[in-house]
Amino acid sequence: MEQNPNEESQKEQNPTEQGPTEQGQTQQDQAEQISRKHVVAGNWKMFKTRDEAQATVREVVGLVGNIQNVDIVVCPPFTALGAVEEILTGSVVQLGAQNVHWQDEGAFTGEVSVSMLADYGCSHVIIGHSERRHYFQESDEVIQDKLEKVFSTELVPILCIGESLEAREADRVQEVIPSQLERALRELTDPQTSRIIIAYEPVWAIGTGRTATPELAEKVHFLIRSWLSDHSSVGVADQVRILYGGSVTPENAGQLIEQENIDGFLVGGASLDAQSFAKIVQQSA
Ligand code: PEP
Repeated sequence: MEQNPNEESQKEQNPTEQGPTEQGQTQQDQAEQISRKHVVAGNWKMFKTRDEAQATVREVVGLVGNIQNVDIVVCPPFTALGAVEEILTGSVVQLGAQNVHWQDEGAFTGEVSVSMLADYGCSHVIIGHSERRHYFQESDEVIQDKLEKVFSTELVPILCIGESLEAREADRVQEVIPSQLERALRELTDPQTSRIIIAYEPVWAIGTGRTATPELAEKVHFLIRSWLSDHSSVGVADQVRILYGGSVTPENAGQLIEQENIDGFLVGGASLDAQSFAKIVQQSA
């Protein structure tokens, strides 16, 4: 299961102001204690049969060895969850799913429930990926229902948000991102907020080879953390891991991870290749 995000020291926060707190600490002192364990999750989408999945994950497990300071997650298609679970047992790599239904069970042809994912040993689940929003018309209401269901279990949700190219070109990022957060997260309690992983995935960067620059990504990650700060109790927003996703490769991961508010990656294409994925993990360690 998910470890405490604050267990491993990754990077320190730059306080924007300093001053004594209730406990007599300066904000600088507090900031120096804030750390977030990085997460690198691979979204395999609709790729790989069971044999292919096992071969890839076997290689990943061998390459990442015993890396402890990154949460490493692979999200194969449902049909390969069991095959991948067999290989992951005893390794540091965790298992995630790409989607889940919001009901416990019922007449929902083609869908999968939270208990079915738990049955396969899943610890994480991706919610609201832009491909699901776009091709399967997943609305913000559906995403909210899925989050609510996931929070009733021990699964960790990886919530995807991100602006379209149209919104970026119209300079509407500052409006679109808070509104996606508002619609998905407005009902969340502090403990739920600190458990969630948010993946900022600009739609124009997914599968296009066009990555956001580290500065551009950091600006949006900061915007997300500021929104979380405004909508939760003191300190909660600092615990939330915010991943970047969109054409991440071993070549660009190093610079992106140096950014203050980038806590890891949701990787699509590059996660299909064990060597590339492992390199991204190593750069995040
Ligand atoms: C994704 O599907 O979540 C993704 C980020 O894909 P890619 O890395 O291929 O852009």
